[in-house]
Amino acid sequence: MNENQTLNKPSNQLPTHAQVVIIGGGVIGCSVAYHLAKLGWKDVVILEKDQLTSGTTWHAAGLVEAGGFFSATKIDMAKYTLELYAQLEEETGQATGFNPLDMITIACKESRLEELRRISAFCRHFDVSMEELSPTEVQDLWPMMDSSDVLAGFLSAGDGRVNPVDVTMALAKGARNGGVRIFEGTKVTAIKKRNNRVAGVVTGKGEIDAEYVVNCAGIWAGEVGRLAGVNIPLQATEHYYLITEPIEGVTADLPVLVDPDRYAYYREEIGGFLLGVFEPVAAPWSVDGIPEGFSFGEIPPDWDRMIPFLEPLMDRIPVVKEAGIHKFFCGPESFTADDQPLLGETPELDNFFVAAGLNSLGILLAGGVGKVMADWIVNGVPDVDITGIDIARMAPFQNTPKYRKDRTVEALGMVFELGYHNRQYTRARNIRKSAFHDRMVAANAYFGCYAGWEYPDWFAPKGVEPKVEYSWGRQNWFEYSAAEHRAAREGVTLMDYSVMGKILVQGRDAEKYLNYICANDIAVPVGRCVYTQWLNETGTIEADLTVTRLADDLFLVLTGDETTNKAQAWLRRHIPADAHVFITNITSAYSVLSIQGPKSRDLLSSVTHVDISNEAFPFLTMQEIDIGYALVKALRITYVGELGWELYIPTEFSLHVFDTLVEKGQDFGLKLIGLQALESLRLEKAYRDYGGDIDNTDTPLEVGLGRFVRFDKPGGFIGRDALLRLQETGYRYLMPQFLLEDPEPMLYYGEIIYRNGEPVGYIMAGSYGHTLGAAVGVGPVENNGDVVTAEYIESGSFEIDVAGTRCPARASLRPMYDPKLERVRC
Ligand SMILES: Cc1cc2nc3c(=O)[nH]c(=O)nc-3n(C[C@H](O)[C@H](O)[C@H](O)COP(=O)(O)OP(=O)(O)OC[C@H]3O[C@@H](n4cnc5c(N)ncnc54)[C@H](O)[C@@H]3O)c2cc1C
Repeated sequence: MNENQTLNKPSNQLPTHAQVVIIGGGVIGCSVAYHLAKLGWKDVVILEKDQLTSGTTWHAAGLVEAGGFFSATKIDMAKYTLELYAQLEEETGQATGFNPLDMITIACKESRLEELRRISAFCRHFDVSMEELSPTEVQDLWPMMDSSDVLAGFLSAGDGRVNPVDVTMALAKGARNGGVRIFEGTKVTAIKKRNNRVAGVVTGKGEIDAEYVVNCAGIWAGEVGRLAGVNIPLQATEHYYLITEPIEGVTADLPVLVDPDRYAYYREEIGGFLLGVFEPVAAPWSVDGIPEGFSFGEIPPDWDRMIPFLEPLMDRIPVVKEAGIHKFFCGPESFTADDQPLLGETPELDNFFVAAGLNSLGILLAGGVGKVMADWIVNGVPDVDITGIDIARMAPFQNTPKYRKDRTVEALGMVFELGYHNRQYTRARNIRKSAFHDRMVAANAYFGCYAGWEYPDWFAPKGVEPKVEYSWGRQNWFEYSAAEHRAAREGVTLMDYSVMGKILVQGRDAEKYLNYICANDIAVPVGRCVYTQWLNETGTIEADLTVTRLADDLFLVLTGDETTNKAQAWLRRHIPADAHVFITNITSAYSVLSIQGPKSRDLLSSVTHVDISNEAFPFLTMQEIDIGYALVKALRITYVGELGWELYIPTEFSLHVFDTLVEKGQDFGLKLIGLQALESLRLEKAYRDYGGDIDNTDTPLEVGLGRFVRFDKPGGFIGRDALLRLQETGYRYLMPQFLLEDPEPMLYYGEIIYRNGEPVGYIMAGSYGHTLGAAVGVGPVENNGDVVTAEYIESGSFEIDVAGTRCPARASLRPMYDPKLERVRC
């Protein structure tokens, strides 16, 4: 009798009720169960349609590593996973095959070298070693490789490999020891719902009522999502490794070699090599649905397609060319539109969670994923930054078969592409366009893609092709964007801002419930706009947005592109179903143009009959104004730190308004600007960006947004008590703005901040401050676990590590550009 069979004992009778049902017995489902049990939730059931590990888990290559990530959340997850795997066998008595090995990542291009220097500094900040080696040192550690093109290597000690099946069995055993019941051969065929809440599952063997259901169905997660009526966009994709026959001299203690410039990794396997490949042009598999009965499945390898990708791998280890091939393996793994996992509570259905779309990192992230999910389910909030991995960020159209198929061709190889801050996918593009798109094309825009929207990043001058030449220094568009920046500071600019999420909240009870959700006071006169955060009970930020009162019983919520679904779900979850409040997403009903700069009033006055003087149209108010033949809602607000308005235009009038403004704008030197200029302008003002420099783990008090919190408003707000407690205990960190003293280096993300020579944090968002004259960024500053005060920031001497060079920097808790808001309120 094997371990799988014993897991069904002592009873194989399905319960009629469980607190949590987990769908899928792969490494992820078992880890979620294990961690729920660790938190004391014992009434947990795993349902597996076939046998544990029979999906993708059984054939994974089993690499585990903590280094190499440029994300605090992923490092946290991977580091924790390694620690867990290192002790799991001792805890459960079940072997895991854990073999701690060093890992060497090589750089064969200057750009890769700079990236790895940046990443290694970032990793060291999180106590993950990643030491630079010379080409000779690399060759000594890996004698069989051809290192002729290697510029450097980066050694992570103590990473390693596991046997994925054994690890999963050990997690299952640990879960079962904690009370979890596991049922194999039990396929979930339907999801039960009550109103907007999950109520249980239906299987061929009976039904289970449940408070929570967690979809850990791997490549089937989209199908299971459809059973629940929720959107889980991921796509199974062919994924390969080649195992050679044994080769003399290859030993099990050989470090794992990662060769991102050849989209490859190499390690020992049964005395030979395993060559893993992440080919840059990949093949989605079974777009219309996974074949029935696919279990412990393999995909016949497509040799013709793969040979061109394998040849450079073999050139790296010439001896491989002489060795026989033991196995060329292909299995399906799920990939997502942005190569990030899909985790969390689905916005459409309460208590229905998902943990899927692991993009070939499922084994090495499984421990962390299980822990984060269990915390999220048990405590109601995750304890790490989930803004980049939250299932709520995905748009429904990203789940169409055509989108999944086209995007996935690129997603696999993207795992090893250089991670420039402005790196863009090239496939499945030009789908979601604003009404101004063709005008922007005509104006020579270079487009990025954000939340599926095509969005001008910058504009090339006439006659210049709008194309990015990626680098870690000043990219080819630097001067074009600088000119856009200066136009916003000195003249007048126009930007397509249609991607903004727009949600109407209306009804007799709208003010009452919305005000309890907002930390600022939105019980304001009609026409007022309020900047606010929505907090959870722990006082951390769930959304960062504005609320404008359009009428006594009507509010317009304006939020970021990727946070719209989440904001909408948050409203639904926090407003009683019987309250007289109605929530409508009207994002597509209005286009948005942002007109900004000291001459914006002059231009706008020339096309409207409404008095838009400071007295008649003050900062943070909204009025309906005429522009040409159209009526638009004008909101006097800025995200660049200048006089300006956002114009909410009924979509069908978009081009008329645009053309009117552009025609008149010629008299005022109007310039179109893109997202890169916006980023530089807003960072000079230290305006916050949710999902960029602030996230769900931050409180408004610690990130400099305390002035938008109204502790004394009648009725209070969600998170108030937690913030009051925080005020008493003191702040864990503060988030100053930094300006490098040297005008040359660039800041993007992840550069380590030093105070008086000690590492205290890292840059969350950086750009070039064309007005301030050097790179500018923001990032949290800690004090070794002690409280951080303004005095601590002001008395410190700061440096920022840019790819290994410490650059002196100024720190300020007040924006260095226009701290008194004189340019905004004029
Ligand atoms: C060739 C290859 C190499 C890889 N190498 C590595 C590596 O070195 N390191 C690494 O970290 N990752 C690696 N991966 C990725 C890793 O294998 C996956 O990310 C991971 O196994 C995903 O685990 P999972 O639990 O999400 O999915 P799965 O293991 O597929 O588990 C999902 C389970 O859900 C079950 N299920 C589906 N639908 C239902 C239903 N309706 N009812 C009940 N049960 C259902 C399935 O039967 C399946 O067992 C590799 C993947 C491939 C293909």
